[in-house]
Amino acid sequence: MSIRLSFYGAAGQVTGSMHLLEAAGGRFLLDAGLFQGRRSETHALNLKLPFDARRVDGVVLTHAHIDHSGRLPLLVRDGFHGPIHTTPATRDLCAVMLPDAAHIQEKDFEFLERRGKAAGEQSRPLYTMADAIATQELMVGVPYHRITHLRKHLALEFLDAGHILGSASVDIRITEAGNHRLVFSGDIGRSGLPIIRDPQPPSGPIDTLIIESTYADRSHESVADAEAKLGEAVRRVAARGGKVLVPAFALGRAQEVIYSLHQLWRSGKIPQIPIYVDSPLAVDITTVFRMHPEVFDQREHLVTAESKLFDFPLIRYIRSVEDSKSLDSSNGPAVIIAASGMAEAGRILHHLAHGVGDHRNLVLIVGYQAEHTLGRRIQEGASPVKIFGDEYEVRAEVETIGGYSAHADKSELLGWVRRLGGPIKRAFVVHGESGPLEAMAKLLREAGVRDVRVPKHGETFDL
Ligand SMILES: [Zn+2]
Repeated sequence: MSIRLSFYGAAGQVTGSMHLLEAAGGRFLLDAGLFQGRRSETHALNLKLPFDARRVDGVVLTHAHIDHSGRLPLLVRDGFHGPIHTTPATRDLCAVMLPDAAHIQEKDFEFLERRGKAAGEQSRPLYTMADAIATQELMVGVPYHRITHLRKHLALEFLDAGHILGSASVDIRITEAGNHRLVFSGDIGRSGLPIIRDPQPPSGPIDTLIIESTYADRSHESVADAEAKLGEAVRRVAARGGKVLVPAFALGRAQEVIYSLHQLWRSGKIPQIPIYVDSPLAVDITTVFRMHPEVFDQREHLVTAESKLFDFPLIRYIRSVEDSKSLDSSNGPAVIIAASGMAEAGRILHHLAHGVGDHRNLVLIVGYQAEHTLGRRIQEGASPVKIFGDEYEVRAEVETIGGYSAHADKSELLGWVRRLGGPIKRAFVVHGESGPLEAMAKLLREAGVRDVRVPKHGETFDL
């Protein structure tokens, strides 16, 4: 039997997750994610697919983050028309995320055109709203633990990866002339994250493992500590009449913070101050969360006690630009949660421009801040900072809470591998920068895996 694996993204780097599996006479993509980062470095990589999209038989999608799903409309644009298998929650999240990604592409292009900087192929949007909608029609929802045949000799099962709503690890069985079991971890989450269940690895012997390594070289603080710190921060800022400004990713982080605030309010640990979720995308995504209680962690007190997890008297969801602007002229205290997560775009920029100069306010960092972003500069204590081209003195307090990370750290990754139980014949380490990739390879070797590889972009292996 011939099984072949080629790595076309998140190989030697974090974003662009996409691996081509050729087996049982078919060609299947595991994820089709977008390369993210500076446009000058990623646009060409994203633009041209390294294979004929019309010859791909199907896609298996682990979760809705754009670095795993964001090249799907590009595949469709290039003629792919097979099924995209994913969990029902991921399917519904993509219905919000992919049109949003297309909208950003179209807006960026308009911006370049207006400034006379649009230059042929390089500046055209990768795909349009129509491509995103056509992609959605190919999605097939497969619940966790339901074994589904993609072809006669190839079946898959999704297991909860505990990373974001609907996220999955994939257990693939190839039964053409013998048995081969291939497990793709997807992004592995953490134990104790609010709302979603803990990661659940498959168990038993594995022939081929593809595993992520984002944080294989570090340790996170605990999720319980994160909630306690959040409560303490809100009390402190409310007492001095300030605002808590939270840059948050619209998918995942925003809902976790809302959930924690609900929990804190119910137990009387935060005062009665308004909490604004000021991001149309986060509002839409929160609606998708409400549609999928079947994947919530039923051991959590709030999940069992309260059917309206995201609605409580303090919270207000904001869509219109006028309502968003009026938040800045209102007096504190208040909590404002807005995208983008690294304060590079979105409504959080307006709130920071109005708020960083006031010593009563707090900028609360709850997610990873990449180098060269405004979020990172504020986190590191820079002042003044540039927002919309103007300089602002940072007098507000700045605090970082690390415990809300959606990725397993070193010990959690090792725990996930140990729980696989059976021997692992061969492993490929993906989805990490060079330090974490090597750290994960070392962890696997120490756990007894003899054949461990860190594939390069474009590399192909016959299994
Ligand atoms: Zn992810």
